[in-house]
Amino acid sequence: MRKLIAGNWKMNGSLAANQALVKAMLDGLRGAVPAADMALCAPAPYLAQMQALLQGSPIAWGSQDVSAHEQGAYTGEVSVAMLKDFGCRYVIVGHSERRQHHGETDDIVAAKAQCALAAGVTPIVCVGETLSQREAGETETVVKRQLAAVIHTVGHCITEIVVAYEPVWAIGTGKTATPEMAQAVHAVLRAQLAAASTNAKRVHILYGGSMNAANAASLLAQPDIDGGLIGGASLKSADFLQIVAAAA
Ligand code: PEP
Repeated sequence: MRKLIAGNWKMNGSLAANQALVKAMLDGLRGAVPAADMALCAPAPYLAQMQALLQGSPIAWGSQDVSAHEQGAYTGEVSVAMLKDFGCRYVIVGHSERRQHHGETDDIVAAKAQCALAAGVTPIVCVGETLSQREAGETETVVKRQLAAVIHTVGHCITEIVVAYEPVWAIGTGKTATPEMAQAVHAVLRAQLAAASTNAKRVHILYGGSMNAANAASLLAQPDIDGGLIGGASLKSADFLQIVAAAA
């Protein structure tokens, strides 16, 4: 399977900074086909800019969140139809920062994934345990519960999602799961997907959590790690392109 390297810019950027970053990435690719599929998930106000900068390039773009509702009286929210208007291919749902700071439950995350799928936008569904959950030996239970909610809601469409295993303790901390630790959880998730669909091998399971140019190759070499969801390192063109190259 061709790997997928997706950047999550979080709440960073500006018109000028985004333009410079995207230009540096496209220049760095020098017209060559990248070693992996690539996507950049930008803050919502910049989606029109992403469309203008990336249309016709090998880099897809996406959003970092979407409403669980189709339309209506939901002030401040962005619907999946709006994302589609701007050519979004992906949307991150259930990022731990949204679960933690915005009270997103497993059911809300599943509803968002369902909304995205119904509109033909691929949800990147994040799952992952906190440090205390890992220390309590609950990693498997937590990630399986988070993924089960999505499987229950989207049914046979489960093969159309991307899963991102992001241990919360590794996000933005510089602490990465070892390749073996990450692979063990990815294998659990793959088995859970296989129990839900005979096509589970088609599902990309990304690793996220302080992936960088130095550690990407060993993580991406694991049999069930099909790519990366990259936060900090996606804000530096050279680092992001090195991660993409490591996926070869
Ligand atoms: C993320 O925000 O999804 C992430 C993985 O961040 P970082 O790479 O900075 O740990």
